Amino acid sequence: MEPPPEFLLHIELLSILKSFSPETLIEVVVMIVLLLLSGLISGSEVAFFSLEPKDISELEAEENKTNQQILDLLRFPKRLLATILIANNLVNVAIIILSTTIINNIFDFSNHLAIGFTIQVIAVTFLLLLFGEVIPKIYSNRNSKKITQLMAYPLIILRKAFLPLSLTLVRSTNFIGKRLHRKSDNISVDELSHALELTADEHSDEDEQKILKGIVKFGNTDVKQIMTARVDVFALDNSENFDTVLAQILDSGFSRIPVYNGNFDSIDGLLYVKDLLPHLDAQKDYEWQKLVRQPFFVPENKKIDDLLEEIQQKKIHLAIVVDEYGGTSGIVTLEDIIEEIVGDISDEFDDDNLTYSKLDEQNFIFEGKTSLNDFYRLLDIDGSHFENNKGDSDTLAGFVIEQEGHIPVKGESFDFLNFTFIVESADQRRISSIKVTINELKKDDTND
Ligand code: ATP
Repeated sequence: MEPPPEFLLHIELLSILKSFSPETLIEVVVMIVLLLLSGLISGSEVAFFSLEPKDISELEAEENKTNQQILDLLRFPKRLLATILIANNLVNVAIIILSTTIINNIFDFSNHLAIGFTIQVIAVTFLLLLFGEVIPKIYSNRNSKKITQLMAYPLIILRKAFLPLSLTLVRSTNFIGKRLHRKSDNISVDELSHALELTADEHSDEDEQKILKGIVKFGNTDVKQIMTARVDVFALDNSENFDTVLAQILDSGFSRIPVYNGNFDSIDGLLYVKDLLPHLDAQKDYEWQKLVRQPFFVPENKKIDDLLEEIQQKKIHLAIVVDEYGGTSGIVTLEDIIEEIVGDISDEFDDDNLTYSKLDEQNFIFEGKTSLNDFYRLLDIDGSHFENNKGDSDTLAGFVIEQEGHIPVKGESFDFLNFTFIVESADQRRISSIKVTINELKKDDTND
């Protein structure tokens, strides 16, 4: 009678299995130690290079031998990385060789060479990946300080031991540089925005999310995108007499007013209303021009984070925006910049008639001069599709002209994504107001 197939398989397996000698046991123990070492070394790569500036300041503040060693290692990051890579590779090679010996001691694959080879490759790769890479790296990422403290001294010794080898590696290839560069690469604004979207859940505060998004976009916004355009700037000609100036200032309600000489492209300076206060009773021929302060000019394409830093240092509130030809494009104030982070700020004197009105949940009327940034904010959309299609425009009117290819007349309309834009009023030179309708989102539309 033929034996059952399971029995045959059992016999076959027994023929593969050899004895498990005490030497093999020692080899297995050594192998476990080597795996532990491999894990510690590759974990220390993650630990050292994921230390935050805050961690490094803490290490600097808390003076002790281990912290000094960590800082010393980090002072030469390329050499540190080379040392870690060399050590890790040496240990991994030792593991591979030893595992081959162990497997050959325990099993006899002489009749099944191909199977033996495949099993060895799979088993060793699995062991190395799981215990030598994945688990230690995840652990080290979460406990970077602990691992750096544990590994600082061994790595100092290894750095000395491998010095000639690591220096050759650092000098002869740019592999280390590239790998290091990848580690220190800043994440992009897109990645950050994406991360914010992913982390936004029903528990997170909507205002908080808006502010975080504002901060992320902050460094990517040009002055031109947020300025008040020249046509909307209230400015004074320096030839006007004091009476007219006072009347106009009262009427405008602004605190800082650009003063020009003949035409708006040649700005002389800024008149601060508070400088006028002591002279309110002065004669009609009072020379108010002597109160005009030096203007501060900024190019249209300056990033608003840089501008914020500069105007904070210079302690000013208003800058004149100039185009590449030196002509005046508009003005930008501290309030305009801050609004990019915290949203609309209305002070006591601000006109509450914002540049838009909401007809219902779906329909809005916007002034043509509404900046695209404000438009995204008011409708709570991220605007990336608009940004990709806006050309050089920064306002809603500019966007409509860009889409239409000409200055549209009243009643012209077009669809963009799930929005319908209808020109409400326009003349030959500019679009004054635009009706925006948010249509039901179709399946292939991507609003935000
Ligand atoms: P403050 O609030 O310090 O009294 P303000 O109300 O005159 O000053 P800001 O609060 O700095 O002005 O700015 C509010 C808005 O008014 C901003 O969008 C800014 O661009 C705009 N703005 C400021 N000055 C003028 C001006 N002279 N002409 C037109 N728009 C201005």
